[in-house]
Amino acid sequence: MKKSRIEFEKQMVEQMILLYCKGHKHAVSAPCAECSELASYTKNKLNSCKFAETKQYCSKCTVHCYRPDMKSKIKTVMSYSGPRMLLYHPVVAIKHFFS
Ligand SMILES: [Zn+2]
Repeated sequence: MKKSRIEFEKQMVEQMILLYCKGHKHAVSAPCAECSELASYTKNKLNSCKFAETKQYCSKCTVHCYRPDMKSKIKTVMSYSGPRMLLYHPVVAIKHFFS
């Protein structure tokens, strides 16, 4: 259960980054190099997150473990893909935003 939550969040982040990359036509086959770097960075952070077992989602986390440039990138991705996730994955997105 604890593990699956992190797995779930990793999956969400990956999909959001993919959506963002496709939406901005970064590369012919998404994700582009920059976006896959962001995705693996984010997944690494999730893997090593101290709050993995109890924490809220990273957007609400009190420990700002992201590098500033990565943080601003992921924020851009979230604000782009967040609302769109509701269209593509209504159940998943709703679960995410209200948990
Ligand atoms: Zn991209």
